[in-house]
Amino acid sequence: MTTVTRQPKAATDVVRAVISEHAPANRVREFDEAERFDHELFHALAHAGLLSGALDDSGKLSHAHQAAVLTELAAGPTSMAVAFVVQYMAVQLLSAHGTPAQKDAHLAPLLAGDVHASFALSEPDGGTDVARAMKTTATRLPDGSYSISGRKRWIGGAMDCGYMLLLARTTEIGTSAIGGITTFIVPRSTPGIETREIDTMGIRSLAQTDIFLDDVRVPAANVLGEPDRGFRQVIGTLNGERLNAAAVALGIARGAFDVALDWAKSREAFGRPIGAFQALQHSLVDARLKIESAVLLLERAVRAAEAGDPSGDVDSALAKLAASEAATFTTDAGMRLMGGWGYARELPMQRYFRDARLYTFAPLTDEMIRNYLGEKMLGLPRSY
Ligand SMILES: Cc1cc2nc3c(=O)[nH]c(=O)nc-3n(C[C@H](O)[C@H](O)[C@H](O)COP(=O)(O)OP(=O)(O)OC[C@H]3O[C@@H](n4cnc5c(N)ncnc54)[C@H](O)[C@@H]3O)c2cc1C
Repeated sequence: MTTVTRQPKAATDVVRAVISEHAPANRVREFDEAERFDHELFHALAHAGLLSGALDDSGKLSHAHQAAVLTELAAGPTSMAVAFVVQYMAVQLLSAHGTPAQKDAHLAPLLAGDVHASFALSEPDGGTDVARAMKTTATRLPDGSYSISGRKRWIGGAMDCGYMLLLARTTEIGTSAIGGITTFIVPRSTPGIETREIDTMGIRSLAQTDIFLDDVRVPAANVLGEPDRGFRQVIGTLNGERLNAAAVALGIARGAFDVALDWAKSREAFGRPIGAFQALQHSLVDARLKIESAVLLLERAVRAAEAGDPSGDVDSALAKLAASEAATFTTDAGMRLMGGWGYARELPMQRYFRDARLYTFAPLTDEMIRNYLGEKMLGLPRSY
């Protein structure tokens, strides 16, 4: 297998090659049905350099690389794209905020795919207003270590990760809810951690997990960077998170579109391919328009992020919204166009339809993205 270069086009080609060898459509369907994570595929992708390509030798993250890999993965084995989002997030947090010792210990295994990381922020009482809803606490003990107790919800891949980057409240909530929260590197094997799998409608090849933490002890060396800065560290990753969410949603839209177009050309009714009917042509054109628009917005947002342009935050929010809408529109149009066959679990349209829903609310809901754009793009008062 060729090792990826840092050119997005090359990354795209490498993902395609790995998918064609390790994740043909029938295997993706089997893993979705069995609700199993495809470890073999994960390792093949990592071995091909698709994780390590996200970070260059000077420690700079390539958003273009991540977007190219995620779009391509999402168009095929979509759950793997979501797993990669989490892994890239861990790389981003560790490379930006880790101490030299933490970077030495954790970055290389993450980038090689030898260790899976999970990112544990959301809680049962809320993912949107998560800082205010956070009840998980970490208490500093006399020996300087911490005891963490509480509960996390919706944590992707936490059943069998190596460790979690987990946020907990270390200081009583003050005037600003986002202060007083710390990120901890918590090995999954630490005593006091229990997990329960949550049955979800989509992204079924990556288990979502409830995590129960009861007096989980971690040393002070496992605080990521500085204490009480955790939420601010996460806010610093938001631009990248929006870009990566946009890339996955776009990939889902593209995967569904390709299936729908093939179906429109080959399925017949009234002696003609169904794609000859104007109603279906229009829905395919509308889907393609949303996809092309999202592609352009994502490219613009990636360029802005790579250039460190401050307008990049608005661009990435626009791209996330456009891609999420392209995905929900295209998968809905695809279901209609395929009639009963869209409903059949042996064909992929229903999976795209289920998977696409994730990006209407993760990592930020589309409502919150609109709130953000109302304020930052239109200059209106903050609405929340
Ligand atoms: C498959 C899956 C994987 C996930 N992976 C992870 C993970 O790995 N790590 C992690 O930490 N989390 C993860 N999440 C959690 C995800 O980030 C949250 O679900 C998301 O942030 C939304 O939070 P919520 O579900 O609690 O919705 P809520 O916060 O309860 O929101 C409910 C509704 O209220 C709306 N709302 C709230 N405030 C406003 C406002 N001011 N204006 C307008 N509307 C508003 C929201 O937009 C939404 O429509 C995952 C979730 C799922 C389902």
